[in-house]
Amino acid sequence: MSISYDGHVHSPFCPHGTTDQLEEYVEEAITFGYKGMTFTEHAPLPQNFNDPVPNKDSGMSEKNLNEYLKAVHQLKSTYAGKIEIRCGLEIDYIEGFEDETKHFLQRVGPQLDDAILSVHFIKHGDQYTCLDYSPTAFKELVDSLGSIESVHQKYYDTVLKSVHADLGIYKPRRIGHITLANKFQKEFPFESRFQAEISSLLDEVKNHGYSLDYNGAGTVKPLCGEPYPPDWVIKEAINREIPLVYGSDAHSAKGIGQGTEMIMTQTLSSPYRVSRS
Ligand SMILES: [Zn+2]
Ligand SMILES: [Zn+2]
Repeated sequence: MSISYDGHVHSPFCPHGTTDQLEEYVEEAITFGYKGMTFTEHAPLPQNFNDPVPNKDSGMSEKNLNEYLKAVHQLKSTYAGKIEIRCGLEIDYIEGFEDETKHFLQRVGPQLDDAILSVHFIKHGDQYTCLDYSPTAFKELVDSLGSIESVHQKYYDTVLKSVHADLGIYKPRRIGHITLANKFQKEFPFESRFQAEISSLLDEVKNHGYSLDYNGAGTVKPLCGEPYPPDWVIKEAINREIPLVYGSDAHSAKGIGQGTEMIMTQTLSSPYRVSRS
């Protein structure tokens, strides 16, 4: 079975991605055989949040937001009949910035067909670190939290908070790459599978009626080598009948379809529309 929908695609509006044009992504997607795709650019981060990465380029600039939304909506009609395109965003859940995020969603939500809620930033003490930025950033978290295991625990804990967070009626209903803490696992090995943490997380995803981003990007990261999440978690999600939506997380046109050889394609669903919960 091949992949028919990609629910996690970036764009030239991503400040840490490539300049590949929207049309190049879509053409690649058509070649790949997709029936549909959602562009999920990193939403602008809250204004009073200080992006901890050196170039402060984790999210799209606020001044480009309208142009992005307009361009993606435009594509829908350009490609009508060839491929279904949905306009979305990847929204960061940042512990302590729930109100700002809720207000952002209240403003932009009506223009979205779909969205993902992801955790990239980990709060420790009164500072934040971008967990997946680099092995050095991950090491910073290990030093601050005390062990590799505690970084994973903190990650699952933050993802669980994102599931519970009150972000209003436009809160995304798909949770991004829930095992992103595994990105540098070959350099920062750990014994535990975090079965208890992952099980309670999946239970809550199910209780809220959310779906999961079944993300291929980890397979091409040399220190990861598996999808987010890996097979055993997918099986647990299937047991709970949680819908799974493939996401290439492509930051370039050639990234479309990445990781599909390691994705259990028979498990996939199409994304749920953003709906009032
Ligand atoms: Zn990105
Ligand atoms: Zn992400």
